[in-house]
Amino acid sequence: MRISDTSPTTPSSPASPRPRDHVDVVVVGAGIAGLYALHRLRSDGWSVRVFEAGPDIGGVWFWNRYPGARCDVESVDYSYSFDTALQQEWDWSEKYATQPEILRYLHHVADRFDLRRDITLDTRVVDMSFDESSSSWTVRTDRGEEVTSRFCVLAVGPLSSANIPEIPGLDSFSGQIVHTSSWPEDVDLTGRRVGVIGTGSSGIQAIPHIAREAGDLYVFQRTANFSIPAGNRPLDAQTRAQYKRSYDERRRLSMESGGGSPHRPHPESALAVTDDERRIAYEKRWQLGGVLFSKTFPDQLTDRAANDTARSFWEQKIRAVVDDPAVAERLIPGDHPIGAKRICTDDNYFETYNRANVHLVDVRQSPIDCVVAEGIRTAGETIGLDVIVLATGFDAMTGSIDRINIVGRDGQTLKQAWSAGPRTYLGLGVDGFPNLFNIAGPGSPSVLANMVLHAELHVDWVADAIGHLDAAGRRSIEATTEAVDAWVADCADRADNTLMPQANSWYLGANVPGRPRVFMPFVGGFGVYREIIADVAADGYRGFALMPAEELT
Ligand code: NAP
Repeated sequence: MRISDTSPTTPSSPASPRPRDHVDVVVVGAGIAGLYALHRLRSDGWSVRVFEAGPDIGGVWFWNRYPGARCDVESVDYSYSFDTALQQEWDWSEKYATQPEILRYLHHVADRFDLRRDITLDTRVVDMSFDESSSSWTVRTDRGEEVTSRFCVLAVGPLSSANIPEIPGLDSFSGQIVHTSSWPEDVDLTGRRVGVIGTGSSGIQAIPHIAREAGDLYVFQRTANFSIPAGNRPLDAQTRAQYKRSYDERRRLSMESGGGSPHRPHPESALAVTDDERRIAYEKRWQLGGVLFSKTFPDQLTDRAANDTARSFWEQKIRAVVDDPAVAERLIPGDHPIGAKRICTDDNYFETYNRANVHLVDVRQSPIDCVVAEGIRTAGETIGLDVIVLATGFDAMTGSIDRINIVGRDGQTLKQAWSAGPRTYLGLGVDGFPNLFNIAGPGSPSVLANMVLHAELHVDWVADAIGHLDAAGRRSIEATTEAVDAWVADCADRADNTLMPQANSWYLGANVPGRPRVFMPFVGGFGVYREIIADVAADGYRGFALMPAEELT
């Protein structure tokens, strides 16, 4: 039984078809996951509408256009794998793609697969409610549109709701305030006095670029962070050709790996090898560049002593490039194991503090009292500024989901269901919310994996599940409470067996006041997770209740 479009058919011109008000699937978000969801589900024969709050497709890659923004996963890996011809025709120009290049790629994908005709831009989904009698969702937008659908796919992104710090007086600043995650097109920093608050991945990427443009740059650091040089370089024709020949193998290795990358850790414990072997292994990863340093050895994120070997290698590297030992000391984290927060990927970040126009303000020693018209007031002084850059991150994993009023069975809202922390089965389903699928959200590897391959994995699973329901004559799929309870407990156990919860990270919601402290991503590894969800599907969607049509109330 194919669930078909039941909306009244209105004749319309092919040039401007009237958007449907009933579809098989509504997808929220036209970023990497939403675009692939549209392509895959439409290819399966379903009618689909995608709503995107932004004025363009691309999700985070539209909005995060701050100076220096680029992906911290190699471009050849951070790209769709679903279409061989697409892989072969697209040329990445650098090892790590810049934000404009990734956005160009997503435009290319949208055009190549004719995606735009089913995407409604500039439209935020504000409300979704499930009607048990028809087993369908009613989706409402901020433009007053109402659409019904059998299924909903949340592709809103785990890092897409800005975290705006509650600093007194922020509104009174007479200059310009910008957040890295919604960077305006018209910011001119040339010769200006700029203050950057935040030294996570966004701040660390932007700071070297801002330092080159600004007159004076003040970096307000609350917590020092681990970062590894990207080792970015242009990709020549020969390297690109070699990547293209190795795509199949690269993808296979990535899908089986812990984090969605083709690079494998050293086979032994960091503590089982000689000092020389360990140093060589770390040096190799250092040269590889970026976030994979945290996976040099398999026990680096589970054993504190193993972790300390990585930290001491890292510290030596940093002390060697920062001229002022007192500044180096402040830039070295003392409060968390290396990798327990996502390791940042940089382009001369630490060297930037050797510049005369860059000033490090340690917010723990000199807390920010308030923002005043002329700048930022700390314990000791008022620092005059023209621009304040908030590199303060995201209300991660649940922030963008929370912005939608999602009402499931029996009038229960998702916000209520998740008041003590997000509860999912496999990250994909929630009890009480039938036919609602979440892409790369809490309970899945999500941000710990390659987000493009993760999106494909999730979307393919969801599309297969919808196809299965159709073939089996079922109308709805819903995670059982027992399955959710067991998955939440399993995720927590796995996290507790690592060093990850030892950092006050956004993985735990620790960066947003009032969020329950729950480790949100599945830490068991991307390959392991992939096997688990495949096994659940092969076992007739174990842990999900599939309701036959006749049992609908
Ligand atoms: P983040 O990692 O959460 O960093 C936010 C920074 O702002 C932290 O240094 C935080 O300090 C600071 N902060 C927040 N509120 C503050 C306050 N009231 N006063 C002073 N400092 C404050 O956010 P992000 O840098 O945007 O990165 C988030 C994630 O996005 C990354 O981990 C990564 O997964 C992804 N990302 C990826 C890329 C890439 O691919 N290259 C680039 C950017 C982001 P505390 O640590 O003390 O809280």
